[in-house]
Amino acid sequence: MGLIEASSNKSFWRGVDYYEHNKVLSWGKSEDGNYYGCVQGSYREKYKVSIDVEHPRKSKCTCPFATDRQVVCKHMLALYFTAKPKVLEDYLEMLDRLEREQEEEEERLSIQHEQELMKKAKQMSKTDLIEELVLAWLRIEEMEKNSYYY
Ligand SMILES: [Zn+2]
Repeated sequence: MGLIEASSNKSFWRGVDYYEHNKVLSWGKSEDGNYYGCVQGSYREKYKVSIDVEHPRKSKCTCPFATDRQVVCKHMLALYFTAKPKVLEDYLEMLDRLEREQEEEEERLSIQHEQELMKKAKQMSKTDLIEELVLAWLRIEEMEKNSYYY
């Protein structure tokens, strides 16, 4: 599990924001291949951050959110993305791809559903169709009437 996966959704997007606004004031690579740095906080504070890429929960930050807790905060993520911008780029691309795939799947299901309804309608008698149509109109009218209140 990486730093991104170990963070909350909120921390992730705040970390992206901090990275994009260059909140990482200084950083370096330690001998073990991890990273350390100084990150600007929301106000005047500056936080000392060190991240462990292999063991995200061993990462440290002096901010109140992360002090004495094994959590991944936005400062750690901002440092991570500053040191490894490609990781964020790939991750955001992956999110985009997932979203596109989900939209395509929804579109496919919606077409499939429409085809099923069409098939069902074709198999009904004219009397049944008229009855269904009138019921559908009444339901639409009812929904429209209710929506006035919102
Ligand atoms: Zn922090």
